[in-house]
Amino acid sequence: MSTDVHDLVIAGSGIAGLSAAVYAARADLDPLVLEGDEPGGQLTLTTDVENYLGFPDGVGGMELVQRGKEQAEQFGAQFEHGRIEDAALDGRPFELSLSTGDTIHTRALIVATGASARWVGAENEDELMGYGLSTCATCDGAFHRGDDVLVIGGGDSAMEETLFLAKFADSVTVVHRRGELRASEIMADRARDHDDVQFRWNTELEAIHGSQEEGVTGATLVSHPDGYPTEKVESGIDVERETVDVGGVFYAVGHTPNTRFLDETAVERDESGYIFTQADDVGRPTARTTVEGVFAAGDVADPRYRQAITSAGTGSMAALDAEEFLETLRESDELTAAATA
Ligand code: NAP
Repeated sequence: MSTDVHDLVIAGSGIAGLSAAVYAARADLDPLVLEGDEPGGQLTLTTDVENYLGFPDGVGGMELVQRGKEQAEQFGAQFEHGRIEDAALDGRPFELSLSTGDTIHTRALIVATGASARWVGAENEDELMGYGLSTCATCDGAFHRGDDVLVIGGGDSAMEETLFLAKFADSVTVVHRRGELRASEIMADRARDHDDVQFRWNTELEAIHGSQEEGVTGATLVSHPDGYPTEKVESGIDVERETVDVGGVFYAVGHTPNTRFLDETAVERDESGYIFTQADDVGRPTARTTVEGVFAAGDVADPRYRQAITSAGTGSMAALDAEEFLETLRESDELTAAATA
């Protein structure tokens, strides 16, 4: 166990964590960035990013995070492998137990651990993710002009992705495992009313076809009139199977925020696990959480926008808030020391 106490630990090395690291390092807070299980975060799963300000020709997702890491390191941020497995946040300094077996201590913590898009479990998804298979229509939709594409899921995200994709693709087929959407009526109506959108009910994706060289070329769908067809396959019940030609597949089956390590803490979260950030005294947004000294940035506190640019923005907010907190802590420690001297 290290006896050093860090001023600031940043959990997560996606865009939010990196942006926080740049700001914190420039403020001489010597941040330690824990890279997590998916170093670089969700952007490493996408190919080109065309909507991040300042890159008129687009930029590779991987390149963007690598350049962000270099920028943070240049100002003195330290990076370490590892994920927080357990956090004791009720005393000072905070104690963090890492997946590497180390225990570290810090005065302030920025949680930028992101949310992982859920995957379906279809054959070939590992190979084709980022090569025509995507979890983000806003990021990758524009690469599918003139394609026929599938969207997997029946919630609001699926409808939102569908409507976005319908601007580029020739046709969008929503593949939903039941006969009824989970999405809100208004979003569902918009998708239903769109001429280029079709629905495949009681259907699931079994396999994706293609290669990293040629991208996605097709998909195998399974259907059963009672829904949940892959469960039927597992139980040995007959299903209908069809292979379709498509140029892209988009997963919209929900996200899971990476906040399990906060289960035993007083950091307040919604029922899905997303962290609630707090408003200041006059109601303006901050990156503070319900535990003083703990801040949140990026998708881990944002089920709504989930964009690289918004993550960078909230990352900088978290670093600025952490800097202010540490300054106040230092002043109060100095006052206490002076009073007891
Ligand atoms: P969600 O509401 O949890 O919907 C996930 C969908 O994926 C469900 O239809 C689910 O099917 C399906 N699904 C889950 N696992 C699957 C699997 N393994 N194979 C096939 N299908 C699977 O998630 P979301 O759509 O991301 O929305 C999350 C939250 O954000 C919701 O509260 C939503 O209202 C909100 N949101 C709002 C907006 C907006 O208002 N503009 C936009 C996006 C999201 P079942 O229906 O059968 O469970």
